[in-house]
Amino acid sequence: MTPDEFRKFGHQMIDWIADYRAGVAELPVVSGVRPGDIKAQLPADAPLQAESFDAILADVQRIIMPGLSHWQHPGFFAYFPSNSLPSSVLGDYLATGLGTLGLAWQSCPALTELEEVATDWLRRMTGLSDAWSGVIQDTASTNTLVALLCARERTTEHGASRGGLQAEQQALTVYCSDQAHSSVDKAALLAGFGRHNLRHVAHDEAFAMRPDELRRLIAADIAAGKKPCAIIATTGTTATTALDPIAPTAAVAREHGLWLHVDAAMAGSAMILPECRWMWEGVEQADSLIFNAHKWLGVAFDCALYYVRDPQHLVRVMSTNPSYLRTAADAEVKNLRDWGIPLGRRFRALKLWFLLREQGVDGLQARLRRDIANTQWLADQVKATPNWQVLAPVPLQTICVRHTPSGLSDEALDRHTRAWVERINRSGQAWLTPAVLEGRWMARVSVGAATTEQDDVARLWRLMRQVAEHPDGNRT
Ligand SMILES: *Cc1c(COP(=O)(O)O)cnc(C)c1O
Repeated sequence: MTPDEFRKFGHQMIDWIADYRAGVAELPVVSGVRPGDIKAQLPADAPLQAESFDAILADVQRIIMPGLSHWQHPGFFAYFPSNSLPSSVLGDYLATGLGTLGLAWQSCPALTELEEVATDWLRRMTGLSDAWSGVIQDTASTNTLVALLCARERTTEHGASRGGLQAEQQALTVYCSDQAHSSVDKAALLAGFGRHNLRHVAHDEAFAMRPDELRRLIAADIAAGKKPCAIIATTGTTATTALDPIAPTAAVAREHGLWLHVDAAMAGSAMILPECRWMWEGVEQADSLIFNAHKWLGVAFDCALYYVRDPQHLVRVMSTNPSYLRTAADAEVKNLRDWGIPLGRRFRALKLWFLLREQGVDGLQARLRRDIANTQWLADQVKATPNWQVLAPVPLQTICVRHTPSGLSDEALDRHTRAWVERINRSGQAWLTPAVLEGRWMARVSVGAATTEQDDVARLWRLMRQVAEHPDGNRT
């Protein structure tokens, strides 16, 4: 492709995406394809001869489009939002177009320095002190793994430079709430702690981790000859956006010298609102904390922030220093390869920087406040309607609901819940994620797609009532 062809097709591609965004609300939000439908339309081998760009774009329209579920759709209430605002999309294009990599500072000075500045902007926006240093990784899952590797190495005084975990006399233990994200279990297993040394702490009536239970489990492990190592607290759990109490958890961590990692993957975005910061009170006492700017905030996936209080420790755990990567500038600059797992690093800071500048703090705050207000409105409707229940506190933008007609319980209630959620998802108008809470199915309504306005939430509520209360009725 010549630069002129690139210009032509690039303009075409941008037009295509702009049209897609402008018309996304008209598309069915959940794809109706069956497993294998997309693969069946694609050849087994790559083309021998070059194909035209027009042919490629035509296949995007014909084959790929029907296989998309639309995350930027105003009827997206599934999982958690993953907004990809247009300014951030352009930042991502620029990063890819420049095709530059941050291996060391020298390999792309602007990449390293903009990442430092943009993560620092976000640090101030969320009210964190200047004791924190930030870096951008791909996902929260990676960040939690990094945190647990650092915790492991702190507790073992850098056992990895000797016999590693295999040479430890005492088994190291890790603690998280039984509501923690599955990525925490995964990270603990990958970091070598072993399932037998991972403790799921019981939650209270608000689905938050109980510090008294945490304390009890740690004492029992110490009595059994184990060595407690790390606690993962969550601000905004995945099922219900529950808020683990950070300050009392930090007190337990300090008492026993444990690493405290705060997973605020979803709720971190809300900390740009001063009125939400009580939710992670005590966070300054944590050792590491993460949040995904690629969720509610609006940076195109992937952009997961990792903040650390002791970068020297992080660098010592992560660094490799082969001669070909060493440069004269090493003493004065950050080499971000030493701040995470991969050597290569994309210029992710551009899409974050573009978004923060194009929206401004005011613009981002206004959108998040809109979503919180819309969520409260929906929670009020649900609470005020007979046979409808809100199952957990609603501190942010996610509501857990059940429709419980009289006479339905246990498995019959589960079947009813799954059936009405399924009807919503098949309607093409909205997308909800069903989930299990305390052994029973529920519907999770997660507000926060950038395109979702009050009208869309009101339409969802009408649809919920229609499909749940009149399962045999014809919808119009
Ligand atoms: C979304 C989420 C994760 C996982 O995020 P990835 O970036 O996809 O790895 C982890 N923890 C919580 C609380 C989340 O909401």
